[in-house]
Formats: sequence, C-alpha cells, structure tokens
Amino acid sequence: MSSSESIHSAENLRPRGLRFLVDAINLEPQESPGAWQKLAASHGDTLFLARKFSSDKMAHAVGSLRAIFASHDDKIAALQINELLNTATTHSKLHQLPDGRWALRPDIADAASAAEALTALGAFALAEWLAERGRCSWGICEATNCERVFIDEGRRQAQKFCSTTCSSRTRVSALRQRRTAAEA
Ligand SMILES: [Zn+2]
Repeated sequence: MSSSESIHSAENLRPRGLRFLVDAINLEPQESPGAWQKLAASHGDTLFLARKFSSDKMAHAVGSLRAIFASHDDKIAALQINELLNTATTHSKLHQLPDGRWALRPDIADAASAAEALTALGAFALAEWLAERGRCSWGICEATNCERVFIDEGRRQAQKFCSTTCSSRTRVSALRQRRTAAEA
C-alpha cells in the first residue's frame, strides 16, 4: 500500500464532518461568501449558500466552535459541545455513506442558515470525536503567528502544531535561539 493510500483510508475512518469543520474554522477570509461557497462545494455541499448567509452569524458560530479547540479538559469541552448541540435546530438522521456504511449525522438539509448548518455539523462531529477518543484530541497551533485549529489523530504524543511546516519552523527558530544564547 502506498503512503497516500494509507493516509486516505485513515481519513475515511475519521468522522466526516471534522474535516469540513477544521477547514471552516481555518478559512480565510471568513467574511467572504465566495470563500464559504468554494469551501462547501469542495466538501460536496453545492447548496451551502442557498441558505441564509450572515457574516456576523458565521463569525459567532466559528468563534463558539473555535473555543472548543482551545479546551483541553474533557468535562469542560463536553459542556461546551452540549450547549451547541442544544442550540441546533436540526435533528439527527441515518445517512448512508458512499462506501455503504451507515452513520448518524445531523440533517442539515433544513438548516435555516449557513451558520446553523455549520454549528450543527461542527458540534456533532466534535461530540463523536470526543466520545471516540475519550479526551480532547484537538488543539490550536502553538507556532508563532499561526492560529489554525487541528484534529489530533496521534496515539502517543499530543500534537502541538497544525502542520509539519509549523512544527519545523518552530524547531528551527528554537535551535537558532539556543545557538545565539550559546554564542553570547
Ligand atoms: Zn500552524
């Protein structure tokens, strides 16, 4: 099996909504309906902007979901997620995935606004992930000038950075600082 295939199959095991959620929170610029349309279409939802779109409501939804990524206490995160699940106006429904498996997912077809659809999908995906991992397997990148959120799929060490780019630039700058300190 090639490495790209194994990455792909690992991604298939991850709750589907998580990838959309991470891309949505990291989306730039947040206030552009065009950027949201492109993002939703790339995740297979071409009708995203058929729903009511308000930049303010989206910013609020993104802010509430981002706050969960900052949480590393499972009890607090569960309270935050439950609060969002309670505000969602959507119901859950069994959906058949392209590979034939069945999964319980929020039915966002009737979500009145794009912000509601995002909240319902995001809260549900994080709830499933917390239940599966039993802890807060996520975070906000610790690299300087990066605020991207990420899902931690590792088994041993906790992930601190959103990407290998951020982890290596942090390593390089720490090395440089140590060298400068040693020379001084
Ligand atoms: Zn980063």
